[in-house]
Amino acid sequence: MEQIENARQNLLAEYEKLDDKTKILRSVEFKKLYSQIPALPPEQRGEFGQAVNGLKQEFEQKLASLQDSTSTKPAIDVTAPFDVNVKLTDQPQVLPASNGSIHPLMSEMDNLLSIFERMGFEAEESRAIDDDYHMFEALNFPEGHPARDDYDTFMTEEGLIAPAHTSTMQNRVLKARKERIESGETIQVVIPGRVFRNEDLDARHEHTFYQLEGVVVGEGINTGHLIATLQTFLETYYEKELEVKTQPFYFPFTEPSFEFAMSCPFCDKAGCKVCGQGWVEILGCGMIHPNVLKMADIDPEKYTGFAWGGGIDRLVMMKHDIEDVRHFHSGKLDFLKQFGN
Ligand SMILES: [Zn+2]
Repeated sequence: MEQIENARQNLLAEYEKLDDKTKILRSVEFKKLYSQIPALPPEQRGEFGQAVNGLKQEFEQKLASLQDSTSTKPAIDVTAPFDVNVKLTDQPQVLPASNGSIHPLMSEMDNLLSIFERMGFEAEESRAIDDDYHMFEALNFPEGHPARDDYDTFMTEEGLIAPAHTSTMQNRVLKARKERIESGETIQVVIPGRVFRNEDLDARHEHTFYQLEGVVVGEGINTGHLIATLQTFLETYYEKELEVKTQPFYFPFTEPSFEFAMSCPFCDKAGCKVCGQGWVEILGCGMIHPNVLKMADIDPEKYTGFAWGGGIDRLVMMKHDIEDVRHFHSGKLDFLKQFGN
C-alpha cells in the first residue's frame, strides 16, 4: 500500500501547517483516495477502502487527543480552590448564603460587645499586624525584659509583629482620648481582636485566637472599680449572680496585677468538669502601670486606671462544652452547623 503511505506523509505535512487542524479531514488527499475506490477492481476495493478509512481514523484520533489536551480545557490554575477541568457534577458545590451562619466566635464577640456598650464602653478593634513599640515598649517591657519571652509570636523579616495580645492597642487608645480625661471624663474602651502565639498546637492551644481587652482611665479610678466592672459584666453575661475573687499575678503593664476568678456559672460551685473545684479563672487584670500611662502622655500622679484581657475562645468552649479549640479554625461544616442561627 505504497499509495496510502505516500498519502499519509502528504497529510502529515499538511497537518503541521494547518492553523485549524480539523480541516485535515477535508483535505484533497482524502478526496483523491476516496475517488479512486470505485475505479478499482472489485477484489481490491475492500482492502483499499479499509486502508483509507484507517488513515482517516488516524487523523480523527489525532484531532481528538489534541482537543483533550488543549482547546476545550482551560489551563490549570494552581491557585484555584479546585481543578476547573473536573466534571461539573464532581466539583465542590458552593452553598448559598442562606445556608451559612455566623461563626460561634463572632456571634459571641457581638454578644460581649453589646454588653459592654450598654455599660458605656466604646469598642476599637486591635490590629492584625503591629510593631515592637506597641507590643512591648509602650507596655513597660523594655528591650531585653525577660517577660517578653512569655509572648512568643510571629514576626515579619522587617520586624513587624503579629500581636500576641490586644494590649498592643492600649497606648493608641489612651493617647487618642487623653484630652477627654483632662475635661473630667473617664476613658472606657473595649478592644476586641485576633491575636497570635507561637504555640505547640493541641486541644487547648491554637496559634490564632481572640481576646477582648478593656481599658478604663480617669481621675480616682481604683481596684474597687475594676472588680465591680468585671463582676457586673460576668453576671450580665451568665445571667446570674456570681462570686468573684482575685489573686496576685504578674504582668509588666499592670501594678498590682491579678488573676480574676468567678464562682462557676455552670455548677454554682458544686464542682464540675469546667471548674473542677467550683472556681473558674477567667481573665488577667490589674491597675495600669504608671509607666504605661506616662507613655501615653497621661500624668500617673493625677489619673489612674485599670485594664483586663481575656480569651473569647475559652468562653465559647466553656459555654458550649467544646473539647478542642482547633475546631474553631477547622472550617468543618459539621462543627459550624451546630451554631446555626
Ligand atoms: Zn463548675
